Amino acid sequence: MKLPEIQRRKTRGVTVGGVRIGGGSPVSIQSMTTTPTADVAATLEQIDALACAGCDIVRVAAAAPADTAALGQIVAASPVPIVADVHFRFQRALEAIAAGVHKIRLNPGNITDRQAVREVINACKDAGIGIRVGVNEGSVMDRTDPARQAEQLKKPLDELMVETITDYLEVFIEADFHDLVLSAKSHDAITTIAVNRALSERFDYPLHLGLTHAGTAATGMVRSVAAVGTLLAEGIGDTIRISFAGDPVAEAVAAKELLASLRLRRRDRAEIIACPTCGRTEADVAALAEEVRAALADVKQHVLVAVMGCIVNGPGEAEGADAAVCCGKGKAAIYREGKYIRTVPEEKIVEALVTEVQALVEKKS
Ligand code: SF4
Repeated sequence: MKLPEIQRRKTRGVTVGGVRIGGGSPVSIQSMTTTPTADVAATLEQIDALACAGCDIVRVAAAAPADTAALGQIVAASPVPIVADVHFRFQRALEAIAAGVHKIRLNPGNITDRQAVREVINACKDAGIGIRVGVNEGSVMDRTDPARQAEQLKKPLDELMVETITDYLEVFIEADFHDLVLSAKSHDAITTIAVNRALSERFDYPLHLGLTHAGTAATGMVRSVAAVGTLLAEGIGDTIRISFAGDPVAEAVAAKELLASLRLRRRDRAEIIACPTCGRTEADVAALAEEVRAALADVKQHVLVAVMGCIVNGPGEAEGADAAVCCGKGKAAIYREGKYIRTVPEEKIVEALVTEVQALVEKKS
């Protein structure tokens, strides 16, 4: 059966190490390390974990000279391109570029001196790398000028963010520098959607989608998916970050799941689906699905595995799965490619599913 696909908007392409953002390339996944960048071993360990979880590009904070001094080693050993996140001090950008990073992120709210921006642009031109102009809702207000701030407060936040980016881009356009990625992040999903729709209308630079200070895992993930998922479904967005306070590896896993759910990324692992359970359920479906997920974690191919809570509706609802288990009381029926295979006692369910999945993987490869 043919399924509908997202029609993505055309943007310019920007190369970040071995990854292309925009220009029709697949939507890439980004996250950011939480370790002090100056701690090379800890930062590389987190970058490796992020890469294993599906992260295509990793951003690190370039806050102090000790951080940029560590970047040479980090870039050399990283399995994925590295972006230096620069705020307030443009010198950190120049040091990071000299250390070989693959992209710079500048915040228009706190690197405002045009001559400083020109120096960063020239260094990026010489190094052949791009710049993300990334505005956050917290840095668009001019707190140094009360009269200007009063004017700014009269405008909707999304318009203010677009205006901030548009003004900032003047210096890049004057310098004929177009290796740009744009981002505008709010903690509010609706604002993030509105501002990115507007940016997408106004510019053909690729967009980095995400939220800022979105919350802890439960709220941050849902807010991120609400905003980023809506925009992606409209064809907007070239690279994404799911953002919440906590382990960044979980951000990358969530981002990968979002892209796969929207068929913007092919699944290359076992995909576990499970019924929501109801009064007919005679097994602990949530615990079983988690056990099945862990048992199939090493499968490097897409296999759809369904864990269903009853034998009444389970077989029909799991029809499209490659392998399925439909639980009864103390036992379960195992299915492969829609066909009943056998019934096993509950303690043998995971083992039986692993056997069926192995057979499927062998058949597919
Ligand atoms: S598959 Fe069975 S147990 Fe699960 S939700 Fe449907 S009817 Fe309920």
